[in-house]
This record gives sequence, structure tokens and C-alpha cells, in this order.
Amino acid sequence: MASVAIVGAGLGGLMLARVLHVHGIKSTVYEADTSASARTQGGQLDIHVNDGQAAIAAAELTDRFRSIIHQGAAATRVLGSDGAVLFEEPDDNTNTRPEALRGDLRRMLLESLPPDTIHWGKKLASAISIGNGRHELTFADGAKVVTALLVGADGAWSKVRPLLSSAIPEYTGITFVETYLFDVDTNYPTAARTVGAGAMYALAPGKAIAAHREAGGVIHTYAQLSVPADWAGDIDFNDKTAAIAKVVGQFDGWAPELTALVTESDTFPVPRMIHSLPGEHCWRRTPGVTLLGDAAHLMPPSGDGANLAMFDGAELAKAIVAHPDNIELALSTYEEAMFCRSHAAAADAREVVDLCLGDKAPHSLVDFFAQPRGIS
Ligand SMILES: Cc1cc2nc3c(=O)[nH]c(=O)nc-3n(C[C@H](O)[C@H](O)[C@H](O)COP(=O)(O)OP(=O)(O)OC[C@H]3O[C@@H](n4cnc5c(N)ncnc54)[C@H](O)[C@@H]3O)c2cc1C
Repeated sequence: MASVAIVGAGLGGLMLARVLHVHGIKSTVYEADTSASARTQGGQLDIHVNDGQAAIAAAELTDRFRSIIHQGAAATRVLGSDGAVLFEEPDDNTNTRPEALRGDLRRMLLESLPPDTIHWGKKLASAISIGNGRHELTFADGAKVVTALLVGADGAWSKVRPLLSSAIPEYTGITFVETYLFDVDTNYPTAARTVGAGAMYALAPGKAIAAHREAGGVIHTYAQLSVPADWAGDIDFNDKTAAIAKVVGQFDGWAPELTALVTESDTFPVPRMIHSLPGEHCWRRTPGVTLLGDAAHLMPPSGDGANLAMFDGAELAKAIVAHPDNIELALSTYEEAMFCRSHAAAADAREVVDLCLGDKAPHSLVDFFAQPRGIS
């Protein structure tokens, strides 16, 4: 079959390329970034058995994945805004959701592909149908490519999505502000103690400070706020001191060891307005094109988006491998199952947001963690 054109070298697009490669099918990945190191990939992800780990197994990379796990990082604690620990669970290495840095996962996938697979610096500007399931892609540098099978793995603001759907991501009412502390055992021992070995969630209705101890002595924090859409736009995030003062002003009365995760930041604070697609987003089968990951089902961060993107990539590859001579059957098989799981995941994601930022926080999350949980 002809080469598969994938737009976007995130975890979803790369997983699709890798699983196709394992089955001898060639793909080309067009990525807007100019190189693998053009952007820091920050953030540690917990990789779930049923989606992320299943995809990694389909990619025949389980041994490599084991070598990049950040041991001990699956510990969890929930605090009140006064700093009191309300729930604590250590990482006893029986945890089924091991943690790995997004950058390490991406590198693992990049290194598993033939060197000519990724075309860097290829930012898709537009895509049009030219009939018979074929599409013409136009890149920001003016280059054009015609595809027989096009996959949009280009994230939240996908340029491929308009071929299938008129849906546009909407602001969820939540803005995260991202900060980092480096070399914490030496420079920030109080922060290191407050956060512990893994994830720490300090919660109150409408606001949270969620921090993660990452590999290499790093604490990565999101101050999470229910704020109007124009809140971040009114802050000059290039003025570090003023921006931090605005953010921390939202946490009046919180324990100083919690607000210090924001005020002491080694980096400029970065606002991340959280958008989502409709929870039941889907489209009619359209010849020669489909979507995966955030392009298909952007949802509020609930710790599953990257896992789902990788799983989509692996499942789409498997469908193509199963029906190489009937691409429409491959795409409809993939989409039917993907719509089902992404609608369920979007409902779960909204529930997680409510557990963390709803009226009953922090006790809602404590009760959730205290329940027996199955493997997922
Ligand atoms: C604050 C925050 C925290 C999160 N935490 C977690 C977590 O803990 N666990 C988890 O599982 N998920 C988490 N997520 C969700 C996760 O980041 C996404 O669901 C996941 O990255 C989606 O992967 P993707 O491959 O679909 O898209 P992306 O990772 O967005 O990759 C898309 C790729 O396409 C490229 N691209 C975009 N536009 C173009 C274009 N026009 N032309 C060419 N290339 C293009 C981009 O440069 C990028 O490389 C979080 C999200 C946010 C916002």
C-alpha cells in the first residue's frame, strides 16, 4: 500500500508510525517543529496498562520503556490548602501506572523509526480534498504533497480536523500556570518534603496546586484556577515577579510551603488555558482521512490524554495492517472503537476535574483515592 501521511510527531503520531513500521508499512510524519530538540517536552506521564502500555507493547518497545521508568514516582498525596496531608499512598513498585518523562517517551519512539520517517519543519497550513480519498497538503514553506491516506495527529488546533468536523475547542473555564523548581534536594528542601516522591495535589474548590516530583530532582507544578477566559490575557507573563504575584494572589491564606512552589519558580510562569472538544465529538466517515489523539478528542487533562493518543496510534496501525487493501474498512473499524472509548474517557476527564476543583475538593479526591481501584 502507499505510504501513510501523518501530520504531527507527538506521541500519537509517532506511535502510529512505529506500529506501522513494525508491520513493514511505510509512513511519513510531517512535523511543524524544526527538530526533535526544538521544544522542551516537559512533564512526566503515568502510563496506564490498558492504553499507554498496550500501545507500547504493540510497538515492541516494552523493554525500552522499562528502562525509562522513573522509579518511585507513582507515590500520591492529597493535601488541604493549610498543608495538612489528607491522603498518602507510597509507590511500592506494584503500581500499575509507572511514570516516565514525555521527552524520554518521545525519544524512545523517534529512535525506533527509520531516519527518513520524520520531515521536520513542515508546518501544515491547509489540507483540501482532491477527490477519490486523496488530499493535497500545503505547508507553511509553500511545499505541497498529495496523500492517499492522511492522518491528523496534530493536536488541539489540528489543521486536518476541518476536513472532517467543524468542531472547535472551547475554553473549559480552567487555566493552569506552570512553574518549575530545579535541583530541589539542594535548593528547595522544604518543597521536596512537601511534594514527596511522586504527585502532590493541594486542593480547594475552584483552585489547586498540583506538583510532581520528576526525574533529575525537578518539581513541576501547575497552579490550577477556575477563572474567566480573559484572566491570563490580562497578565504580563514576561514580567515574572508581577505575574507570580497575580497567580499567588489567588491562593490567599494557603500554607506558605504550597505557595512557595509557585513563588520560588526557577522559570517564568507559563499560562496554559485548558480547552476541550465536545465530549461526544465524532464525524461521518470521509474517504482517505482520519484523526487521532487530541486532534480527535481534546479533553481536560485527567492524566489519560497522552495514553489515549498512543493507543489510538497503535489501534489505527493495527486496523490498517488488518485491511491493507480496504482502507475505508480500516478507518471505519478504527473510528467506531475510538469514538466509543474517547466519549467514555471525556466523561471520566470531566469527573476528574470535578474531583479536583469542584465544591467538595479536597475530600472528593481523597474519597476517590481511598476506594479500591482496578487495573487500568
Ligand atoms: C497541562 C497539561 C497536562 C497534561 N498532563 C497529562 C498527563 O499527565 N498524562 C496524560 O496522559 N496526558 C496529559 N495531558 C494530555 C496530553 O498532553 C495530550 O493528550 C497528548 O499530548 C496528545 O498527544 P497528541 O499526539 O494527540 O498531540 P500533541 O502531543 O499535541 O502532538 C501534536 C504534534 O503535532 C505538531 N503539530 C501541531 N500543528 C501542526 C501543524 N499544523 N503541522 C505540523 N505539525 C503540527 C505539534 O508540534 C506536536 O508535535 C496533559 C495536557 C495538558 C494541557
